[in-house]
Amino acid sequence: MDMDKLVSLCKRKGFIFQSSGIYGGINGCWDFGPLGVELKRNLKNDWWYNFVQIREDMVGLDASIITHPEVWVASGHVEQFHDILVDCKECKKRFRQDHLETERCPDCGGELSEPKTFNSMLRTRLGVSDDTAVETFLRPETCQSIFVDFKDIYSSTRVKIPFGIAQIGKSFRNEVNPRNFIFRSREFEQMEIEFFCREEDEVKWFAQWQEDIWAWYLSLGIKESALRWYEHPKESLAHYSKRTVDVEYEFPFGWGELQGLANRGIFDLTQHSKHSGKDLSYFDAEKNERYMPTVIEPSAGADRTTLAVLCDAYDEEEVNGETRTVLHLAPKLAPIKAAILPLVKKDGLAELAENLEKKLRRKFITYYDHAGAIGRRYRRQDEIGTPYCVCVDFESKENGTVTVRDRDSMEQVRIPMDDLADYIGKRVSFERD
Ligand code: ATP
Repeated sequence: MDMDKLVSLCKRKGFIFQSSGIYGGINGCWDFGPLGVELKRNLKNDWWYNFVQIREDMVGLDASIITHPEVWVASGHVEQFHDILVDCKECKKRFRQDHLETERCPDCGGELSEPKTFNSMLRTRLGVSDDTAVETFLRPETCQSIFVDFKDIYSSTRVKIPFGIAQIGKSFRNEVNPRNFIFRSREFEQMEIEFFCREEDEVKWFAQWQEDIWAWYLSLGIKESALRWYEHPKESLAHYSKRTVDVEYEFPFGWGELQGLANRGIFDLTQHSKHSGKDLSYFDAEKNERYMPTVIEPSAGADRTTLAVLCDAYDEEEVNGETRTVLHLAPKLAPIKAAILPLVKKDGLAELAENLEKKLRRKFITYYDHAGAIGRRYRRQDEIGTPYCVCVDFESKENGTVTVRDRDSMEQVRIPMDDLADYIGKRVSFERD
């Protein structure tokens, strides 16, 4: 699949636009239009449903984007992201770019990665007057506030270890080189979990999360052959990590990370305890024992997953000698669940269809369209991934039935109008029995 085709469809149909387009755009920032906002919202809701709502061992959080600046000192971000860094793609060693004399790795001669900015955090000032304003950062990851709030959360709820805290929210990184559409941007959304367990259970939980994460990507309809695990070699692990594996997707521009799964050990809670002076250890009342829990962290990007879903869904098919562009989106993710289309405008069919659409839109997102030939209207919906097209025809007037066309098979079934909400509702829901 050609990436340009997807980018152009996204703009043309209102999924994703460059931010501030009329001013020439702004690098690394993107706006999700009417269809894009629905798609990404469905994805986030599905993630929350799977990883928070239906689990007994998870709770949620929505913390502020701007935090006390000390948070980023404790986390290691202020110190660790100080210089322009490049990585050797061969031996994985990391260098300060200003220390290098050649454009290749000084150790093995390997190719070097893109440089990373000296501090990828976006700075901001909090406060009105210059002398009292505090300089701080827009968070570069959502997880730190989970650690900072750890005690407030576990003492205000009845959660007991093992348990996890989930958060979805914006993160900001001053990426040196934003690229590949929404894959690498400067403002993006993360869906992160910090799962707290006993150290002796870390291997078991790591494996369990690998399984759960994989199953979720498959549930989004992504082809398994386009997914793989990447194990980070020990010597290139981040300062906090005991083990990291990534889920990668095969994008048209190559394999790219969708989600990291890291064993962060006790690094973060220990750091924040030290820097804040507040003990963030956990007290196990049953065992009468106090300890620092180990943390397993699944950390996913909402934008990258949205991009993977779009790339995977995009297809061009030959149908009756014509090319049909179709997004085979999982129905639970599709922005519009059903289009209601009168066969023709006249003879009261338009009114009948409009009334039907008004009723259905209380249940799920629908769209009414009477412009152009019915075949064209079907194609317009195929292109934006609408899984069901309901056609109101002359028979509808006579016996109250309509046809429902399936986007993928293009087959139609005739059903009573009164059954539509249930028929479509259960097929587009992300709920599980
Ligand atoms: P990369 O190596 O691609 O820069 P990372 O390893 O720095 O990513 P993490 O810090 O592990 O990324 O962040 C967790 C997730 O957040 C990533 O798997 C990705 O989905 C998302 N993410 C990180 N940086 C960006 C970005 N610049 N734009 C969009 N999503 C991002």
